[in-house]
Amino acid sequence: MGQIKINNSVLYILTIYFIQMNQSKFTVSIINVVIACLLILLFIFVLYHIFGNKLIITDPDPPQLDYFESLIPPEKKPVIVFDYDQTLVDDHGKLFPQIEEIILFLKEDGHTLAIASYNHNAEKYIERHNLHHHFTAFEAFWHPKVTKRQHLEKLSQKLGVECAEMILFDDLWSNINETKHITGLSVLVSPETGVTRNDVLKALKKYSKTE
Ligand SMILES: [Mg+2]
Repeated sequence: MGQIKINNSVLYILTIYFIQMNQSKFTVSIINVVIACLLILLFIFVLYHIFGNKLIITDPDPPQLDYFESLIPPEKKPVIVFDYDQTLVDDHGKLFPQIEEIILFLKEDGHTLAIASYNHNAEKYIERHNLHHHFTAFEAFWHPKVTKRQHLEKLSQKLGVECAEMILFDDLWSNINETKHITGLSVLVSPETGVTRNDVLKALKKYSKTE
């Protein structure tokens, strides 16, 4: 427990408060409201020092994928295509926190998974993360004339499904803009968080409404 320091001005105000009380001249005034607020803050401050990290107000739990019942019938499940860098992994090549859960959920929900990346090593890297076996197809190469749309068209040939039966998750707006007219859905994700549960749930719900 840290040492609680109360500055002189707070003590001064508290002194005035108690003098007022003793003289029975207490009236509801702005200064009393201010003093009451200070006392509340002081109380919270003391509680914080007593309970430390236990006194943390957190956001409500994010939606859990386990409880999501997909509205898309099995025969219409879209292929889920992920970009690799800044979509599945961060700048250091580390998987974003929710990726494993998302991949397992999507597989269990009956989706085919694929990767479309400009990173030549995406397939090798996903193997290092022990997730390779969840993916059915890869298009991972870069060339100045090759676009994300071409990646998707190649995946379409490999998998025997239309691009319109795919949902793409990618962190680059240019890729989303280029593919949104041929995919069932192209979803822009934040390069700071990669794909999140929210992104996936929103995308599946939106896709189910367009079917
Ligand atoms: Mg990327």
